Amino acid sequence: MLRPSAEQGTIPFQPTPYGHSRVGRPLEVWRSPRHAELLVFAGIHGDEPETTGVLSKALRRLAAPPEACAVVLAANPDGLVRGTRANARGVELNRNFPTRDWKPDPVAHRATLDGPREVLLSPGEAPASEPETRALIALVEELEPETVVALHAPLGCIDDPKHGAVAQWLAEATGLPLVEDVGYPTPGSFGTWAAERDLAVVTYELPLASPDELARTHVPVLVDLLTRSPL
Ligand SMILES: [Zn+2]
Repeated sequence: MLRPSAEQGTIPFQPTPYGHSRVGRPLEVWRSPRHAELLVFAGIHGDEPETTGVLSKALRRLAAPPEACAVVLAANPDGLVRGTRANARGVELNRNFPTRDWKPDPVAHRATLDGPREVLLSPGEAPASEPETRALIALVEELEPETVVALHAPLGCIDDPKHGAVAQWLAEATGLPLVEDVGYPTPGSFGTWAAERDLAVVTYELPLASPDELARTHVPVLVDLLTRSPL
């Protein structure tokens, strides 16, 4: 059941902390009352605040905590507050996970979707050097979800090398193409880390669109994802 519009300004249930960011901001998870089959997280890239926006709007529509889902609205709160892709120490968290192919080389990224890869970010001084990375790993290990959905923007695709049931459902519900990779290697990414542990991860890349358009199309999909359990 959804809450009336007048009540959708606030999140009606309380989060629990699962760690702290580099500068001490709480890392918060909205946990399900029972086993979380699904973990959905947004905002690991601080320059993708639209991911936090749509996931928050979806959570605020729910009259009760999602029964089988855990939700993280801001995996990188320092980056979101500062508007940076990286965390407060300048580390690209999605290259900081302890994968077999982790490399200390700087990560090149595009400042705009069609721009050159010229902005260099650090993958950290070592794998899992950052508190946000370690906290997310500990959360996944504690929750043991069957599937994790990681929200990103603005590539406009559903990425799952295994084309699992959740990815197929999301592709159908959003109309976004289902792809097997984002077209470039991602050493140290959450997805690569999870794949090495046989944990299913779906990367849900919102398309390039206005916040209003994203809300119209993607909030209803996220509400369904959180409540319907399409697993
Ligand atoms: Zn991203």
